[in-house]
Amino acid sequence: MREYATQMEAARKGIITEELKKVAEKELMTVEELLPLVASGKVVICANKNHKCIDPQGVGSMLKTKINVNLGVSRDCKDYDMEMKKVIEAVKLGAHAIMDLSSHGDTIPFRRKLISECPAMIGTVPVYDSVIHYQRDLDTLTAKDFIDVIRLHAEDGVDFVTLHCGIIRKTIEQIKTYKRKMNIVSRGGSLVFAWMCMTGEENPFYEYFDEILDICREYDVTISLGDACRPGCLADASDVCQIEELVRLGELTKRAWEKDVQVMVEGPGHMPIDQIEANMKIQQTICNGAPFYVLGPLVTDIAPGYDHITAAIGGAIAASAGAAFLCYVTPAEHLALPNLEDVKQGIIAMKIAAHAADIAKGVRGAREIDDRMADARRRFDWETQWKCAIDPETAKRIRTERKPEYEDTCSMCGKFCAVRSMNKALAGEHIDIL
Ligand code: SF4
Repeated sequence: MREYATQMEAARKGIITEELKKVAEKELMTVEELLPLVASGKVVICANKNHKCIDPQGVGSMLKTKINVNLGVSRDCKDYDMEMKKVIEAVKLGAHAIMDLSSHGDTIPFRRKLISECPAMIGTVPVYDSVIHYQRDLDTLTAKDFIDVIRLHAEDGVDFVTLHCGIIRKTIEQIKTYKRKMNIVSRGGSLVFAWMCMTGEENPFYEYFDEILDICREYDVTISLGDACRPGCLADASDVCQIEELVRLGELTKRAWEKDVQVMVEGPGHMPIDQIEANMKIQQTICNGAPFYVLGPLVTDIAPGYDHITAAIGGAIAASAGAAFLCYVTPAEHLALPNLEDVKQGIIAMKIAAHAADIAKGVRGAREIDDRMADARRRFDWETQWKCAIDPETAKRIRTERKPEYEDTCSMCGKFCAVRSMNKALAGEHIDIL
């Protein structure tokens, strides 16, 4: 019998859990350094007590930046085997979390298979699943129906749930008054908004927050406070709707912490580069340092087909300014359900962003690999270069396909290779070019 309900409660009682020990080791920290961060909510360890095969990860702005991969079937693409292939590839490429956003068919077997086989943190959005689970129109669902689905996910072993608790009835008028270009682009947020409009009732995730906290406490499910009003285009960034919701998310964070429930806060969205840092600072202040989980942000609206790049640019800036967790974006964003290659491209782009931010933040152990890569490049040690590369397969393929005549160059400059010339010049050797 555990003497604690959640990782936060354990840390507050001074209990060093196995999960905390593993996270400290991965982050090159001592347990004494990590414990107060978990106790205060600045770091979360998303580890549902029923997710038996989890390889625990810590999420917090002072730790290595973590990456989430969204997967799951939709009505138009319903191949669960393909989704499982994407999960395996995502974990192989270094994804720390998988969110199952399935919105078609019987979602239970896939979710349970994922939790029984996948060591990454598993997240879900119970409001989507509510419609699928009951096979009923949104407006016929009751607050109790939504809460029962949260309990089902918690029992199944989901490590974190996105709940759109931050919009309330007042938000309906606000959205109408402020005339956003893109209104609400959060899928879960739009469902909660539509449910409030159709039923005339208060947001059940807000109204019954205490009951939800009891469920999350029992299974140690981290709440990811969804930002229904995250900007869906540059024009809507940092507007009243976004900031007003963030203030409410800050209040809910405190209420969750009173019950030892771990919390992350979700953030933008689409945002011009010059607003990102300020947004990260505001969130950190309003939410008392709770880890910030951002989708991108995408720094321009005009690159469909390349939004893994627009998101990675924003992600790198966001994480270097305090975001802890980056949701990947694929080239298929705004266009289609991502295929396996899109998933790969999205993960690699976000891994680059996360790593670049970790270097800038001075996260322990982040920088050394870059120095190893530079040394290997100078020595033309290709094997070490592959070991240091974020995507060794692609790097190796490009070199092999376009092999140079001489091993101590690449086919870009051949014997005009600056590295080769400098190595030879500094060693006092003759430099043959022709
Ligand atoms: S050939 Fe040019 S691009 Fe290639 S390693 Fe040498 S300097 Fe770099």
